[in-house]
Amino acid sequence: MAGRIPQQFIDDLLNRVDIVEVIDSRVPLKKKGKEYSACCPFHSEKTPSFTVSQNKQFYHCFGCKANGSAIGFLMEYEHLSFPDAIEELARSQGIEVPYEGGQRPDPEVKKAQTDLYDLMQQADQFYQQQLRQHADAQTAVNYLKERGLSGEVAKDFGIGFAPDGWDNLIKAIGNTPEREKALVTAGMLIKKDNGKCYDRFRDRIMFPIRDRRGRCIAFGGRILPKEQPNDKDAKYLNSPETPLFHKGRELYGLYEARQALRDIPRLMVVEGYMDVVALAQFDVRYAVATLGTATTADHLQRLFQLTSEVVFCFDGDRAGKDAAWRALQMCLPEMRDGRETRFMFLPDGEDPDSYIRKIGKEAFELEVKKSQTFSEYLFKQLTDEADISGIGGRAKLVETARPMLSQMPEGIYRKLMFEQLEKIGRVELSSPQAATSNRFKTARQSAKNTKTSMTPVRKAITYLLHQPGVAKNWMDTGRNTEVLKTLDLPGMDLLLEVLEILRVHPDLSTSALIERWRETPNGSHLTKLAAEQPELDDSSALEIEFIAVMDALNKQSVDLRYDDLQARLDHSTLNDAEMAEYKMLLQQIYVAKSASKPDE
Ligand SMILES: [Zn+2]
Repeated sequence: MAGRIPQQFIDDLLNRVDIVEVIDSRVPLKKKGKEYSACCPFHSEKTPSFTVSQNKQFYHCFGCKANGSAIGFLMEYEHLSFPDAIEELARSQGIEVPYEGGQRPDPEVKKAQTDLYDLMQQADQFYQQQLRQHADAQTAVNYLKERGLSGEVAKDFGIGFAPDGWDNLIKAIGNTPEREKALVTAGMLIKKDNGKCYDRFRDRIMFPIRDRRGRCIAFGGRILPKEQPNDKDAKYLNSPETPLFHKGRELYGLYEARQALRDIPRLMVVEGYMDVVALAQFDVRYAVATLGTATTADHLQRLFQLTSEVVFCFDGDRAGKDAAWRALQMCLPEMRDGRETRFMFLPDGEDPDSYIRKIGKEAFELEVKKSQTFSEYLFKQLTDEADISGIGGRAKLVETARPMLSQMPEGIYRKLMFEQLEKIGRVELSSPQAATSNRFKTARQSAKNTKTSMTPVRKAITYLLHQPGVAKNWMDTGRNTEVLKTLDLPGMDLLLEVLEILRVHPDLSTSALIERWRETPNGSHLTKLAAEQPELDDSSALEIEFIAVMDALNKQSVDLRYDDLQARLDHSTLNDAEMAEYKMLLQQIYVAKSASKPDE
């Protein structure tokens, strides 16, 4: 495919770079035994659970389960695309990335994107300059002063001013047809039917929205207070979705929080930019805001990568409570052990900005710490809504809660939540519901047991991932996958696929091997197996164990196939090829038997 990076190049590149160096230059590592470790850059922690294996060329965090190759690390840590991560690694080695067909796909698109970042930066500078210099900026400055904003915080957040008028930005930075077009793409200008453009943001206080690398990717604009407000103008206006800005992924203030805090104790999700900025003014630097959308799964993942506690701050009214319940449901799959979510409801008529000004930082933070935890809020909400004095209400409660709790990841937290639900069931009612929940408990436990026992196929794949070199040694003994192909076991296709790749490329590292399944369902399965603590630390013990597992699988397929052929031989329905296979198997079985009983 034209524009693709050849697999061979990716293999070679991963062989050439050392993941320890790649990570160490960004996150300083300490050597610990055979591996290297550090506090995880993807979640907040005090004791290191992030480990890097030089052998496997693979990183893994026991806390948040982040894992992958050097390419995967750069994609996650620097927020690069797959080709960009490869470009970055290649650059560090002083080599050029070849593209099939000679060219990187859509170099135009790439260049256009660079230009967009550049233009957004210019727009950012323009608005900040207008706040300082424009004759009409006084209303904006007064408004910010009234809200108690210092020049320092305004600067930290890059707050600016878009003057009234239809073409201020066009005149300042959109003075060629190309630039005008790019500004439309970036969402800064709106194109009319007659082809003419005008500024999207007019007479507004401007809040630049920055990505994780601090680049301005969009804006939020707040309308200025007016004597005669025009109802048609929305109070807050955001950039539309653009190639740079996806509002379901970005959080206002996240970059600034990371800049201000070394260790992020918690992140608090509030409603608007002004709340974030006002809280920062009171030295509460951990607030972020979603941008005109409810909290998404992407948002949550991003938040939990940086901290272990997320606090949602809502208005105490009906709309706030509905939003909180939606946020709670979104959190369920993210509630791993070690994470906490809190729900804070403000008194009527207050927003975080007005509230902290009224009660001060200390009292505000006390409220944060006292706010309802995930389990408190969930069970309170459920018991409030169901009439638990009656059987119907209690049944409804259990029926509502059970599928919700089932969405939580396996772990102690989830277990405790189920226990709590059972407790509510047992206390409030006698047999039927309690029996149901006990049955669920048993089902959960047995599901867990199957999960921990490793099938031979899974074992074989895990050994291959931990030490890809065993494949070659195994093949060198004259063994092959011929008979295995007939064995219909879960995961067998994947095992054969891994073996086939290692037959052609016997020297692949763990990470290069896994890279081949990037973005496929098997990919995450394989990275999980690769990250599993090896039960066999010794490399020759692992090789012996691998051969034993493969031999067992082979024997199983030989036996099955032999039985099948034997049964059909009795009805003489074997063709020549099958007859030959039958004889071959017979011989194998004979050899195996005589090998196990050398005295006979
Ligand atoms: Zn982690």
